[in-house]
Amino acid sequence: MYENEKKEIISAALELKYNNLIALSGGNVSMRMPNGDYVVTPSGMGYDNMVPDDLIVFNKEKEIIEGYRKPSVDTAALEYIYDHMPEVNAIIHTHQPYATAVGLVSDTLPACSTTLSNVCLGAVNVTRYSPPGHVGMGELTVEYAGGKRAVILKHHGVITIGETLKQALYAAVYMEEVAKLYLAAKAVGEPAIMTEEQNRLAVEAFERYGQ
Ligand SMILES: [Zn+2]
Repeated sequence: MYENEKKEIISAALELKYNNLIALSGGNVSMRMPNGDYVVTPSGMGYDNMVPDDLIVFNKEKEIIEGYRKPSVDTAALEYIYDHMPEVNAIIHTHQPYATAVGLVSDTLPACSTTLSNVCLGAVNVTRYSPPGHVGMGELTVEYAGGKRAVILKHHGVITIGETLKQALYAAVYMEEVAKLYLAAKAVGEPAIMTEEQNRLAVEAFERYGQ
């Protein structure tokens, strides 16, 4: 069941690892299917040797319909996001250090680079604290997303969301690049922030990007 989507999820997780956004078995990747079923990575397993059978399939009634592994401990939070954001079909959760660091010193990762506009649609909000594995992570994501493709979870990590897995993956990888840029600028001065108009033009430009 959903063999191709499971392979896409594993390859996205490996991409997160290659980009140093997750270490060992951290984080999770999930996707919702057009019929409402969703596929979640297992709890506490490394991604290098993960195979499609390690993933868990739920139906929209939140019952496991395939898979023998224990699903991610964050599954309740993922379900909350899918339930409350019908446009979201993919969620990525990482503990990426630079974006998380921004959340320790700021309430937002501001729109300071066209890259952030391209992948997250603009500034990314920092949420209040919620413990890992708690549905609160999902509640805060819905509360703080504000039409963007990511939130920074204070003291914890990042959640990115997308209509597609590719959108969620690009948001996670490129947000980390922008977080590094922002922290580097902040270390030596006050970073210049883009205007709403500059952000809007950058969002539009990216709609024509790619094949
Ligand atoms: Zn986490």
